[in-house]
Amino acid sequence: MTRLVMKFGGTSVAGPERIRAAARLVAAEAEKGAQVAVVVSAMAGETDRLLALASGFGGGLGDSETDAALAAGEQVSAALMALALGELGLKARSFLGWQAGVRTDGPPGASRIAGLDAAPVLAAMRAGEIPVLAGYQGVDAAGRVRTLGRGGTDLSAVALAAALDAQCDIYTDVDGVYTTDPRIEPRARRIDAISYDEMLELAAQGAKVLQTRSAEMAKARGVKLRVLSSFAEPGKAEGTMVTDAGLIAERRIVSGVAYARDQARISALGASDRPQAAAALFGALADAEVGVDMIVQTRARDAGTANIEFTVDRKDLPKALKAAEGAKAAAGAREIGHETGLAKVSIVGLGLNRRADVARILFEALGEKAIEVKVIATSEIKISALIDNDAVERAVRALHAAYGLDGE
Ligand code: ASP
Ligand code: MG
Repeated sequence: MTRLVMKFGGTSVAGPERIRAAARLVAAEAEKGAQVAVVVSAMAGETDRLLALASGFGGGLGDSETDAALAAGEQVSAALMALALGELGLKARSFLGWQAGVRTDGPPGASRIAGLDAAPVLAAMRAGEIPVLAGYQGVDAAGRVRTLGRGGTDLSAVALAAALDAQCDIYTDVDGVYTTDPRIEPRARRIDAISYDEMLELAAQGAKVLQTRSAEMAKARGVKLRVLSSFAEPGKAEGTMVTDAGLIAERRIVSGVAYARDQARISALGASDRPQAAAALFGALADAEVGVDMIVQTRARDAGTANIEFTVDRKDLPKALKAAEGAKAAAGAREIGHETGLAKVSIVGLGLNRRADVARILFEALGEKAIEVKVIATSEIKISALIDNDAVERAVRALHAAYGLDGE
């Protein structure tokens, strides 16, 4: 019998009507003969509301009791979903993270799933019940309730699907993964199938449909994912399949264009060109838990010196500057400079490394729109360009057209 995990995000369980609509989608799959398990997010806005309440008492993301408060959001939606399935005549039962054996490690507010014991959920399925798991939560080794980081219900769903050897359908408010953000480029198209690696890059580069860590786990555990809309009638959603590159028929050079606003650039000027200098700098940033993105080292004017530049999220700038200043002497840098008001646009595609002219197309497309490229970084399946924040829309549209992604 095929097993299916159906995950519903916050907008898909936003209120009684949405919960009932989601329950009908579950019923339709169960009717087709699949063994279904459901995973739910908190009702839209609920996690923010609970976080604000906890903040009123000095709590924040990262402390224990805030986690206990946040986990309540998913407790409510899981119970309501089980009730809604009951209304349709189905047997259902809600599970909190700890009841489903979701074990975590790592800090409050950003825990990882260390393991998931599928036995309780499987037992319910075998007894003809539909288990409804509260996403985003688990329990740590000390028995404390923990949450998995914002958007973490995706991770709960993928972990459950891996444990059940099931396909994982992620229901959301868009009908799949798009070639770019349709709010910026109305000619964006839904992608039928995309590889794990492309999905990971798109997520890491700012596409928000799927939590990055969940795509990583899906790849590592070979979980077949589908992203689709819960606003479609049962059986009508097409969605996007996220799977192995080898299983994708359509051969594209570029699959999508992603962007991330609010980037900042930091430069360590006249640093020593010995690798130890860069190691001291990036070591300090790692210790401060700053995620560093694009890194460029160029030779500086004076012999033996280099300019090291890198980008960080704007919100991490104060932390990053403090860390960089602290490492300035060890890196032998003359000056630590920074620039804000930047953004990153990226093209992602499995075919990028097969074609020699992809970089030329990028520079030409941005050049024609008089968009300055400040830093460029490439990987096997991605090229990112650092540009001005206010050029994002123009850049996304120019690249979408230049790589032939515009729909008819
Ligand atoms: N409710 C949590 C959040 O808003 C987890 C999730 O929705 O995936 O981040
Ligand atoms: Mg989400």
